[in-house]
Amino acid sequence: MGALAMFCFQDPSLLQFQKRTKASTLAANLKNVWGIKSVPSDSQMRTVMDEIDPEVFEGLFKTFFRLLQRGKHLEQYRVLGKYYLCVVDGGEYFSSYHIGCPFCLRRKVKKQRGDALQFSHQIVQAAVVHSKRSQVIPLCPEQVRNTDGTEKQDCETNAAKRLLGKLKKIHPKLPLIIVADSLYSNQPMVKEISSLGNHYVLVAKPDDHKILTEWVNGLRPINEVMHMEYKDRKGKTHVYEWVGDVPLNGNKDAPLVNYFEYWMKDGEKTVYHNSWVTDLPLDDECIEEMVRIGRSRWMIENEVFNTVKNHGYHIEHNYGHGVKNLSMNFFLLNLLAFFLHQIFELTDRTYQWLRKNLGSKRNLWDHLRVYCHAIVFPDWDDLLGRIALDYGYS
Ligand SMILES: [Zn+2]
Repeated sequence: MGALAMFCFQDPSLLQFQKRTKASTLAANLKNVWGIKSVPSDSQMRTVMDEIDPEVFEGLFKTFFRLLQRGKHLEQYRVLGKYYLCVVDGGEYFSSYHIGCPFCLRRKVKKQRGDALQFSHQIVQAAVVHSKRSQVIPLCPEQVRNTDGTEKQDCETNAAKRLLGKLKKIHPKLPLIIVADSLYSNQPMVKEISSLGNHYVLVAKPDDHKILTEWVNGLRPINEVMHMEYKDRKGKTHVYEWVGDVPLNGNKDAPLVNYFEYWMKDGEKTVYHNSWVTDLPLDDECIEEMVRIGRSRWMIENEVFNTVKNHGYHIEHNYGHGVKNLSMNFFLLNLLAFFLHQIFELTDRTYQWLRKNLGSKRNLWDHLRVYCHAIVFPDWDDLLGRIALDYGYS
């Protein structure tokens, strides 16, 4: 709870946080708001956190998700009537040339003075998103990590398969559309997604899909590729093209996929272009929605990875690496803090008001930290209420 509180307050340093908790006002607030009797010293916290199995925290992602589901907050995330978009992407939360642990991924990097060994920790992250909602709901990430000694390097694709299997176990009845980049639009991954009963919308670049592209191009002259376009109020032209049942690749047992492509044009200039494959049916009624679904992939990069890296979450900041699980556990707690903040934004009116009126998240954290140092509050609602009151909330 001490570590989670540190991340929820967006404290940039473990040592600073621990020092500040010696102040009686903050200590009282940690007790009242968080139920923390005493915060361990920074080295003690690292020792304890290193030993904890990351699976302990995985259950919390499920608990938080279920609570949102029960409170009907997820209904606004539905697409095409019944599905949820699950964006999947790989990311890195730690890299160093100096610090490493037995689970670090290792790669040789060319440097001016010869090769250097780089240590890193990567994860495959999944999140439920909606193109019209700015809050994203993180699901439990899967580590890309070496288990079989240090020679055999784990990879994103393998970790993604483990992640999808795990998500099915955690949320067996959740109808998911897996949205991911070109790395995922291959036969084994498509088969894996389908066998789990999920659907997919995956980026398919012509360079990685020569046979598929040949098929589509072959069908264009005989008008088998559907076409739709319109000009919006700002003068931009939106062009949609789609075709059903084309082979994903040149294999004998290639899965048949539905292919769609989209261009956004400003006069003659193309300002956005992309192409995808899906197992969902395509027609002129759903094609715009399908493009929105395909394009929602950026949200995991922007809202999750960039936010936790750049907006106060200090995910790459070195709180300590440990020899077992420390680095992953700190990452998970940071992500859980991000999740809590998303939940506040979705469910707490005072918090929503503060987010709107204080300008930036960072400004809100600054306020929370300062108020907790100055005044003792009986609980979280009172703390938020007091800041809001000072800014004229009624
Ligand atoms: Zn490591």
